Amino acid sequence: MEPLRDSWGREIKSVRISVTDKCNFRCTYCMPAEGLEWLGRDEILSFEEITRLVRVLARLGVEEVRLTGGEPLVRRDLPVLVEMLAGVDGVDDLSLTTNGVLLDRFAEPLVEAGLKRLNVSLDSLNHVRFAEITRRDALDAVLRGLEEAERYPELRPIKVNCVAVKGFTETEVPALAELARRKPYVVRFIEFMPLDADEAWREDDVLTGGEIRAIIEDRYGPLEELPAKASSTARRFRFADGAGELGFVNPVSEPFCSTCDRIRLTADGQLRTCLFSRREWDLKQPLRDGASDDELVELLRFAVRHKELKHRINDPGFVRASRSMSQIGG
Ligand code: SAM
Ligand code: SF4
Repeated sequence: MEPLRDSWGREIKSVRISVTDKCNFRCTYCMPAEGLEWLGRDEILSFEEITRLVRVLARLGVEEVRLTGGEPLVRRDLPVLVEMLAGVDGVDDLSLTTNGVLLDRFAEPLVEAGLKRLNVSLDSLNHVRFAEITRRDALDAVLRGLEEAERYPELRPIKVNCVAVKGFTETEVPALAELARRKPYVVRFIEFMPLDADEAWREDDVLTGGEIRAIIEDRYGPLEELPAKASSTARRFRFADGAGELGFVNPVSEPFCSTCDRIRLTADGQLRTCLFSRREWDLKQPLRDGASDDELVELLRFAVRHKELKHRINDPGFVRASRSMSQIGG
Protein backbone atom coordinates (compact mmCIF):
# COMPACT_ATOMS: atom_id res chain seq x y z
CA MET A 1 0.00 0.00 0.00
CA GLU A 2 1.16 3.54 -0.78
CA PRO A 3 2.88 4.89 2.37
CA LEU A 4 1.51 7.77 4.41
CA ARG A 5 3.19 10.90 3.11
CA ASP A 6 2.59 14.58 3.83
CA SER A 7 2.54 17.40 1.28
CA TRP A 8 6.19 18.20 2.00
CA GLY A 9 7.33 14.67 1.12
CA ARG A 10 7.86 13.42 4.65
CA GLU A 11 6.86 9.80 5.23
CA ILE A 12 5.05 9.06 8.47
CA LYS A 13 6.68 6.19 10.34
CA SER A 14 5.86 6.91 13.94
CA VAL A 15 2.77 7.49 16.07
CA ARG A 16 2.62 8.70 19.66
CA ILE A 17 -0.53 7.58 21.37
CA SER A 18 -1.86 9.16 24.53
CA VAL A 19 -3.79 6.61 26.57
CA THR A 20 -5.03 9.05 29.21
CA ASP A 21 -5.02 12.75 29.97
CA LYS A 22 -4.78 12.04 33.71
CA CYS A 23 -1.57 12.23 35.67
CA ASN A 24 -0.34 11.61 39.20
CA PHE A 25 2.26 14.42 38.92
CA ARG A 26 1.77 18.11 38.28
CA CYS A 27 5.03 19.13 36.60
CA THR A 28 5.18 22.90 36.43
CA TYR A 29 6.20 22.92 32.75
CA CYS A 30 3.23 20.74 31.80
CA MET A 31 0.16 20.86 34.07
CA PRO A 32 -1.46 23.41 36.34
CA ALA A 33 -1.23 22.81 40.10
CA GLU A 34 -4.94 22.01 40.09
CA GLY A 35 -8.11 22.53 38.14
CA LEU A 36 -7.62 20.59 34.92
CA GLU A 37 -10.78 18.73 33.90
CA TRP A 38 -10.41 15.09 32.90
CA LEU A 39 -11.96 13.51 29.88
CA GLY A 40 -14.98 11.31 30.62
CA ARG A 41 -14.59 7.55 30.41
CA ASP A 42 -16.62 7.25 27.22
CA GLU A 43 -14.60 9.97 25.55
CA ILE A 44 -11.42 7.93 25.74
CA LEU A 45 -10.57 5.40 23.06
CA SER A 46 -10.84 1.79 24.17
CA PHE A 47 -7.91 -0.61 23.75
CA GLU A 48 -9.76 -2.21 20.83
CA GLU A 49 -10.19 1.17 19.12
CA ILE A 50 -6.53 2.06 19.61
CA THR A 51 -5.42 -1.32 18.31
CA ARG A 52 -7.64 -1.04 15.25
CA LEU A 53 -6.14 2.35 14.39
CA VAL A 54 -2.63 1.04 14.88
CA ARG A 55 -3.39 -1.88 12.59
CA VAL A 56 -4.53 0.54 9.89
CA LEU A 57 -1.51 2.78 10.45
CA ALA A 58 0.85 -0.21 10.27
CA ARG A 59 -0.61 -1.09 6.85
CA LEU A 60 0.37 2.44 5.83
CA GLY A 61 3.97 1.92 6.90
CA VAL A 62 3.93 3.20 10.50
CA GLU A 63 6.48 1.05 12.34
CA GLU A 64 6.99 2.83 15.61
CA VAL A 65 4.40 3.20 18.38
CA ARG A 66 5.06 5.12 21.57
CA LEU A 67 2.52 5.15 24.40
CA THR A 68 2.28 8.27 26.47
CA GLY A 69 -0.16 10.53 28.28
CA GLY A 70 -0.85 12.14 30.84
CA GLU A 71 0.72 9.35 32.79
CA PRO A 72 0.16 6.16 30.80
CA LEU A 73 0.60 3.87 33.80
CA VAL A 74 -2.49 5.31 35.49
CA ARG A 75 -4.60 3.85 32.66
CA ARG A 76 -5.97 0.62 34.02
CA ASP A 77 -4.54 -2.61 32.56
CA LEU A 78 -2.01 -0.87 30.33
CA PRO A 79 -0.01 -4.11 29.84
CA VAL A 80 -3.09 -5.55 28.11
CA LEU A 81 -2.90 -2.78 25.51
CA VAL A 82 0.85 -3.33 25.14
CA GLU A 83 0.23 -6.99 24.43
CA MET A 84 -2.45 -6.16 21.85
CA LEU A 85 -0.15 -3.69 20.07
CA ALA A 86 2.87 -5.98 20.24
CA GLY A 87 0.82 -8.43 18.19
CA VAL A 88 0.16 -6.00 15.33
CA ASP A 89 2.07 -6.93 12.17
CA GLY A 90 4.45 -4.20 11.10
CA VAL A 91 4.89 -2.59 14.53
CA ASP A 92 8.51 -3.26 15.30
CA ASP A 93 9.21 -0.61 17.88
CA LEU A 94 6.85 -0.36 20.85
CA SER A 95 7.84 2.03 23.59
CA LEU A 96 6.47 3.91 26.59
CA THR A 97 7.11 7.33 28.09
CA THR A 98 6.37 7.47 31.82
CA ASN A 99 7.12 9.53 34.88
CA GLY A 100 8.24 6.23 36.40
CA VAL A 101 6.40 6.51 39.68
CA LEU A 102 4.48 3.25 39.15
CA LEU A 103 7.21 1.49 37.24
CA ASP A 104 8.42 -0.75 40.03
CA ARG A 105 5.01 -2.43 39.87
CA PHE A 106 4.61 -2.40 36.10
CA ALA A 107 8.05 -3.08 34.58
CA GLU A 108 7.65 -6.85 34.69
CA PRO A 109 4.11 -7.10 33.24
CA LEU A 110 5.05 -4.55 30.56
CA VAL A 111 8.09 -6.55 29.49
CA GLU A 112 6.05 -9.75 29.49
CA ALA A 113 3.47 -8.01 27.31
CA GLY A 114 6.14 -7.12 24.74
CA LEU A 115 7.31 -3.59 25.55
CA LYS A 116 10.64 -2.91 23.84
CA ARG A 117 11.82 0.46 25.08
CA LEU A 118 11.26 2.88 27.88
CA ASN A 119 11.65 6.63 28.48
CA VAL A 120 11.45 7.81 32.06
CA SER A 121 11.12 11.50 32.87
CA LEU A 122 13.37 12.72 35.65
CA ASP A 123 14.31 16.35 36.12
CA SER A 124 16.35 16.27 39.31
CA LEU A 125 18.10 13.81 41.61
CA ASN A 126 17.58 16.10 44.57
CA HIS A 127 14.45 15.43 46.62
CA VAL A 128 13.56 19.06 47.24
CA ARG A 129 14.16 20.12 43.66
CA PHE A 130 12.29 17.09 42.31
CA ALA A 131 9.26 17.98 44.46
CA GLU A 132 9.52 21.60 43.36
CA ILE A 133 9.23 20.76 39.69
CA THR A 134 6.79 17.81 39.82
CA ARG A 135 4.81 19.13 42.81
CA ARG A 136 5.06 15.59 44.22
CA ASP A 137 7.51 14.06 46.69
CA ALA A 138 8.16 10.96 44.63
CA LEU A 139 11.84 10.84 43.68
CA ASP A 140 12.49 7.61 45.58
CA ALA A 141 9.59 5.86 43.86
CA VAL A 142 10.89 6.93 40.43
CA LEU A 143 14.39 5.72 41.25
CA ARG A 144 12.94 2.40 42.44
CA GLY A 145 11.05 2.19 39.15
CA LEU A 146 14.23 2.76 37.16
CA GLU A 147 16.09 0.10 39.20
CA GLU A 148 13.29 -2.34 38.52
CA ALA A 149 13.29 -1.55 34.78
CA GLU A 150 17.04 -2.10 34.69
CA ARG A 151 16.52 -5.75 35.67
CA TYR A 152 15.08 -6.43 32.20
CA PRO A 153 17.67 -6.46 29.42
CA GLU A 154 14.74 -6.48 26.96
CA LEU A 155 14.18 -2.82 27.85
CA ARG A 156 17.21 -1.18 26.32
CA PRO A 157 18.16 1.55 25.95
CA ILE A 158 16.47 3.08 28.99
CA LYS A 159 16.23 6.79 28.31
CA VAL A 160 15.92 9.33 31.07
CA ASN A 161 14.29 12.57 29.90
CA CYS A 162 14.89 15.85 31.62
CA VAL A 163 13.05 19.03 30.60
CA ALA A 164 15.59 21.82 30.78
CA VAL A 165 14.27 25.03 32.31
CA LYS A 166 16.51 28.05 32.70
CA GLY A 167 17.16 28.97 36.32
CA PHE A 168 16.27 25.47 37.47
CA THR A 169 18.13 22.82 35.51
CA GLU A 170 21.67 24.27 35.53
CA THR A 171 22.29 22.99 39.08
CA GLU A 172 20.80 19.57 38.26
CA VAL A 173 22.99 18.92 35.22
CA PRO A 174 26.11 17.56 36.97
CA ALA A 175 24.19 14.87 38.92
CA LEU A 176 22.22 13.91 35.81
CA ALA A 177 25.43 13.66 33.77
CA GLU A 178 26.88 11.42 36.49
CA LEU A 179 23.75 9.28 36.29
CA ALA A 180 24.45 8.69 32.61
CA ARG A 181 28.01 7.65 33.50
CA ARG A 182 27.19 5.22 36.27
CA LYS A 183 23.96 3.66 34.97
CA PRO A 184 22.92 2.07 31.67
CA TYR A 185 20.69 5.08 30.97
CA VAL A 186 20.87 7.54 28.11
CA VAL A 187 20.21 10.87 29.80
CA ARG A 188 18.50 13.32 27.45
CA PHE A 189 17.89 17.00 27.97
CA ILE A 190 14.77 18.38 26.28
CA GLU A 191 14.31 22.08 25.70
CA PHE A 192 11.28 23.56 27.46
CA MET A 193 8.53 24.24 24.91
CA PRO A 194 5.47 26.52 25.13
CA LEU A 195 3.12 23.64 25.96
CA ASP A 196 2.64 24.28 29.69
CA ALA A 197 -0.99 24.57 30.80
CA ASP A 198 -0.14 27.64 32.90
CA GLU A 199 1.07 29.44 29.75
CA ALA A 200 4.02 30.75 31.72
CA TRP A 201 6.63 29.80 29.07
CA ARG A 202 8.85 32.65 27.89
CA GLU A 203 11.68 32.40 25.42
CA ASP A 204 14.06 33.32 28.24
CA ASP A 205 13.01 30.18 30.17
CA VAL A 206 14.60 27.90 27.59
CA LEU A 207 17.91 26.44 28.67
CA THR A 208 19.28 25.31 25.34
CA GLY A 209 21.00 22.02 24.63
CA GLY A 210 24.08 24.05 23.69
CA GLU A 211 24.15 25.70 27.11
CA ILE A 212 23.83 22.37 28.91
CA ARG A 213 26.51 20.82 26.76
CA ALA A 214 28.82 23.67 27.74
CA ILE A 215 28.17 23.01 31.46
CA ILE A 216 29.01 19.32 30.95
CA GLU A 217 32.06 19.92 28.76
CA ASP A 218 33.41 22.35 31.33
CA ARG A 219 33.61 19.47 33.75
CA TYR A 220 34.34 16.45 31.55
CA GLY A 221 35.98 17.91 28.46
CA PRO A 222 34.62 17.70 24.89
CA LEU A 223 31.81 15.24 24.25
CA GLU A 224 31.94 13.06 21.15
CA GLU A 225 28.95 13.13 18.81
CA LEU A 226 27.49 9.76 17.82
CA PRO A 227 25.55 9.00 14.65
CA ALA A 228 21.76 9.27 14.96
CA LYS A 229 18.87 8.20 12.71
CA ALA A 230 17.80 10.96 10.32
CA SER A 231 14.35 11.11 11.93
CA SER A 232 15.78 11.18 15.46
CA THR A 233 14.70 14.08 17.65
CA ALA A 234 17.92 13.87 19.66
CA ARG A 235 21.56 14.56 18.94
CA ARG A 236 23.60 11.85 20.65
CA PHE A 237 26.91 12.28 22.43
CA ARG A 238 29.22 10.18 24.57
CA PHE A 239 31.82 11.16 27.09
CA ALA A 240 35.33 11.05 25.68
CA ASP A 241 36.31 8.22 28.06
CA GLY A 242 33.43 6.13 26.68
CA ALA A 243 31.44 5.96 29.91
CA GLY A 244 27.87 7.02 29.30
CA GLU A 245 25.68 8.54 26.61
CA LEU A 246 23.80 11.82 26.58
CA GLY A 247 21.15 13.18 24.23
CA PHE A 248 20.01 16.68 23.44
CA VAL A 249 16.52 17.28 22.10
CA ASN A 250 16.60 20.88 20.92
CA PRO A 251 13.23 21.69 19.34
CA VAL A 252 13.57 25.40 20.11
CA SER A 253 17.21 26.16 19.32
CA GLU A 254 17.66 23.55 16.56
CA PRO A 255 14.22 22.59 15.19
CA PHE A 256 14.11 19.20 13.50
CA CYS A 257 10.77 19.61 11.73
CA SER A 258 12.20 18.89 8.28
CA THR A 259 12.79 15.26 9.24
CA CYS A 260 9.69 14.82 11.40
CA ASP A 261 8.04 11.48 10.71
CA ARG A 262 5.50 11.60 13.56
CA ILE A 263 1.81 11.98 14.12
CA ARG A 264 -0.05 11.92 17.44
CA LEU A 265 -3.28 10.46 18.67
CA THR A 266 -4.87 12.03 21.73
CA ALA A 267 -6.63 9.95 24.38
CA ASP A 268 -9.97 11.11 22.98
CA GLY A 269 -9.16 9.93 19.48
CA GLN A 270 -8.07 13.14 17.79
CA LEU A 271 -5.23 12.92 15.30
CA ARG A 272 -2.64 15.70 15.55
CA THR A 273 -0.03 16.16 12.88
CA CYS A 274 2.22 18.39 15.03
CA LEU A 275 2.71 19.04 18.75
CA PHE A 276 1.80 22.63 17.95
CA SER A 277 -1.24 21.90 15.77
CA ARG A 278 -4.21 24.20 16.13
CA ARG A 279 -6.36 21.72 14.24
CA GLU A 280 -7.24 18.12 15.06
CA TRP A 281 -8.79 15.35 12.99
CA ASP A 282 -11.48 13.34 14.69
CA LEU A 283 -10.97 9.59 14.34
CA LYS A 284 -13.13 8.53 17.26
CA GLN A 285 -16.49 9.37 15.71
CA PRO A 286 -15.81 7.59 12.42
CA LEU A 287 -14.49 4.60 14.38
CA ARG A 288 -17.65 4.50 16.47
CA ASP A 289 -19.87 5.11 13.45
CA GLY A 290 -18.55 1.95 11.84
CA ALA A 291 -16.07 3.38 9.30
CA SER A 292 -14.36 0.72 7.21
CA ASP A 293 -10.57 0.34 7.18
CA ASP A 294 -10.49 1.93 3.72
CA GLU A 295 -12.43 4.92 5.00
CA LEU A 296 -10.01 5.28 7.91
CA VAL A 297 -7.10 5.11 5.47
CA GLU A 298 -8.61 7.93 3.43
CA LEU A 299 -9.14 10.04 6.56
CA LEU A 300 -5.56 9.46 7.69
CA ARG A 301 -4.18 10.35 4.28
CA PHE A 302 -6.24 13.50 4.16
CA ALA A 303 -5.13 14.63 7.64
CA VAL A 304 -1.47 13.85 6.96
CA ARG A 305 -1.57 15.84 3.74
CA HIS A 306 -2.23 18.83 6.01
CA LYS A 307 0.75 18.19 8.29
CA GLU A 308 2.36 21.48 9.24
CA LEU A 309 5.66 22.30 7.58
CA LYS A 310 7.19 23.29 10.92
CA HIS A 311 6.45 24.65 14.34
CA ARG A 312 6.65 28.40 14.66
CA ILE A 313 7.87 28.81 18.23
CA ASN A 314 10.56 31.22 17.10
CA ASP A 315 8.37 33.28 14.76
CA PRO A 316 6.88 36.61 15.76
CA GLY A 317 3.18 36.18 16.48
CA PHE A 318 3.57 32.48 17.43
CA VAL A 319 0.20 31.09 18.53
CA ARG A 320 0.19 28.35 21.13
CA ALA A 321 -1.16 24.87 20.41
CA SER A 322 -4.84 24.23 21.02
CA ARG A 323 -4.10 22.02 24.06
CA SER A 324 -1.31 21.67 26.60
CA MET A 325 1.25 18.85 26.76
CA SER A 326 -0.52 16.43 29.12
CA GLN A 327 -3.69 16.64 27.00
CA ILE A 328 -1.83 16.07 23.75
CA GLY A 329 0.59 13.35 24.74
CA GLY A 330 4.26 14.28 24.64
N1 SAM B 1 3.74 11.50 32.10
C1 SAM B 1 4.73 10.92 31.24
C2 SAM B 1 6.09 11.56 31.47
O1 SAM B 1 6.15 12.59 32.11
O2 SAM B 1 7.04 10.98 30.98
C3 SAM B 1 4.36 10.98 29.78
C4 SAM B 1 3.72 12.23 29.27
S1 SAM B 1 4.75 13.68 29.30
C5 SAM B 1 3.64 14.89 28.67
C6 SAM B 1 5.87 13.34 27.97
C7 SAM B 1 7.15 14.12 27.96
O3 SAM B 1 6.85 15.47 27.72
C8 SAM B 1 7.93 14.07 29.25
O4 SAM B 1 9.26 13.69 29.00
C9 SAM B 1 7.85 15.48 29.76
O5 SAM B 1 8.96 15.80 30.51
C10 SAM B 1 7.75 16.26 28.46
N2 SAM B 1 7.19 17.61 28.60
C11 SAM B 1 6.09 17.98 29.27
N3 SAM B 1 5.87 19.30 29.15
C12 SAM B 1 6.88 19.80 28.40
C13 SAM B 1 7.21 21.09 27.90
N4 SAM B 1 6.47 22.16 28.18
N5 SAM B 1 8.32 21.22 27.13
C14 SAM B 1 9.08 20.14 26.84
N6 SAM B 1 8.81 18.89 27.24
C15 SAM B 1 7.72 18.71 28.03
FE1 SF4 C 1 2.40 14.34 34.24
FE2 SF4 C 1 4.27 13.78 32.46
FE3 SF4 C 1 3.04 16.17 32.44
FE4 SF4 C 1 4.71 15.59 34.42
S1 SF4 C 1 5.22 15.77 32.24
S2 SF4 C 1 2.66 16.48 34.64
S3 SF4 C 1 4.41 13.45 34.68
S4 SF4 C 1 2.10 14.23 32.02
